[in-house]
Amino acid sequence: ESIPVITIDGPSGAGKGTVARIVAEQLGWHLLDSGAIYRVLAVAAQHHNISVEDEESLLPIAAHLDVQFQICSVGEGKVILEGEDVSNAIRTEEIGALASKVAAFPRVREALLRRQRAFKVTPGLVADGRDMGTIVFADAPVKVFLTASAEERAQRRFNQLKGKGFDVKIGRLLDDIRLRDERDQNRKVAPLIPAEGALIIDSTELSIDEVVSKILSFCNEKL
Ligand code: C5P
Repeated sequence: ESIPVITIDGPSGAGKGTVARIVAEQLGWHLLDSGAIYRVLAVAAQHHNISVEDEESLLPIAAHLDVQFQICSVGEGKVILEGEDVSNAIRTEEIGALASKVAAFPRVREALLRRQRAFKVTPGLVADGRDMGTIVFADAPVKVFLTASAEERAQRRFNQLKGKGFDVKIGRLLDDIRLRDERDQNRKVAPLIPAEGALIIDSTELSIDEVVSKILSFCNEKL
């Protein structure tokens, strides 16, 4: 039982998803996009007409979430909820905000723990989210905390969403990012903080390749 895990935590829009995918590809390891699980739960709640404020009703949905992630670490995998492709639907700002609400409930998080830990399989796992290094994979040998200024993150989200054809305003994105940061940082359970021993990378002025190579050399040191 010494399957290696690299955790990459940080605020939304810091580039965790992209970086985690490339690192996983380069190592030939599995990938866990834990934010997608919270996003899928928010969509499932909508499907079942359940309020994201209603922890009690969210619990059975979280426990029985019928979600499949296309098993591959190449490209953006598909996300299937109850047989429906929700890959794009989960990526909206609206769902991001709802996800951060469901994610604030301790018992909801607990209900999703086992599902996340099941991604740890040989030869290794790269897991990105908010509490990968602090809670879900607290014993991971390699932990990274990836951040960037709120303005830079809003700009990146803007470019990303534009590229996908969404009509968005940058000021609105910045407000959303600040709100979500605050909710993620100040919640009682699994708040967004760097894990002990994490390599902290501020990517505001770094390219994706630069971030990836910092992480890979940190890995070489640690593994
Ligand atoms: O990373 P992403 O933006 O997809 O995450 C959506 C929301 O899910 C976050 O704002 C956060 O509240 C929640 N989340 C979490 N723990 C994780 C991953 C995501 O609480 N490990």
